[in-house]
Amino acid sequence: MRYIDLHTHSTCSDGTLDPGQLVREAQRAGLSAIALTDHDTMAGVPAAQETGHAVGIEVLAGIEISANHEGRPVHLLGYGLAPRHPALLPLLEELQSIREQRNASILDKLTTLGIHLDHSELNDSSGGLVGRPHIARMLVRQGHATSIDQAFRKYLRKNGRAYVAAAKFPVIDTIRAIRSAGGVAVLAHPTSIDQTLATIPTLVRNLAAHGLDGLEAFYPGHSSKTCRKLCELATQLGLIITGGSDFHGAMKPGIYLGGGPAMPPIPYCLAEGLQARLRLAADRVKSLEK
Ligand code: AMP
Ligand code: ZN
Ligand code: FE
Ligand code: FE
Repeated sequence: MRYIDLHTHSTCSDGTLDPGQLVREAQRAGLSAIALTDHDTMAGVPAAQETGHAVGIEVLAGIEISANHEGRPVHLLGYGLAPRHPALLPLLEELQSIREQRNASILDKLTTLGIHLDHSELNDSSGGLVGRPHIARMLVRQGHATSIDQAFRKYLRKNGRAYVAAAKFPVIDTIRAIRSAGGVAVLAHPTSIDQTLATIPTLVRNLAAHGLDGLEAFYPGHSSKTCRKLCELATQLGLIITGGSDFHGAMKPGIYLGGGPAMPPIPYCLAEGLQARLRLAADRVKSLEK
């Protein structure tokens, strides 16, 4: 059997391996294909693909975009899109500026709590995009928390002492931009929106009407029942099924490329389903350009 991982992060966002190291690690883990899906940036894709070529692993271009739907944070995975497509660049710039403002607000809140983190030091602590995990790591380094997880619980997550909500970026615009750039749009980790899945079928039907292409059914912490329910929903609605570990290296201890103890391995046939959907996406973009 061949296995894959379609959800991974590098130092270009909040992972701790650079794109080349990540691909080499995937090869060591015995994977046949991975997608690099950094938050709100595709900066690492060329280097990851170059290494993929050198070591004989398929590396799919990807991105994970933080959006919002009816007041709920929703992460969308985009696959196979052109990194510098004009439909994508303004959106990525806006996401970047949203993050900069949010990071500044979080540091301001921390200052009122007597915790002083240097903004330029924070920006220098990332190889690309800066998010809450980088703030968490600084809090740990300066002794304000014992682990990244504790820093999230004490300060950064909802109800934490320095929590700042993310700006609302419409998920429907995000789906449209991913598809205009020749990509396919997949709803990431649906259980983070609703652990019980009770509201997921309505949400997914609504997003599918706006062009959503797939559901991430294989994910750490998804029980076999959850995974099966999401696969059934995808099949009912004509969506593809994807899966990934959401590997972040040392930023998320206990999560391994390709799954590890936290999830079953992800079969290669899901990459084939994604490739088939991408061929449809390419045909669609070509027919629009005519
Ligand atoms: P942000 O993109 O700035 O909103 O930060 C969200 C990121 O933080 C997500 O990619 C998660 O992987 C990560 N994250 C959220 N909670 C935790 C946690 N308890 N420990 C480690 N990483 C976390
Ligand atoms: Zn992350
Ligand atoms: Fe996510
Ligand atoms: Fe992720």
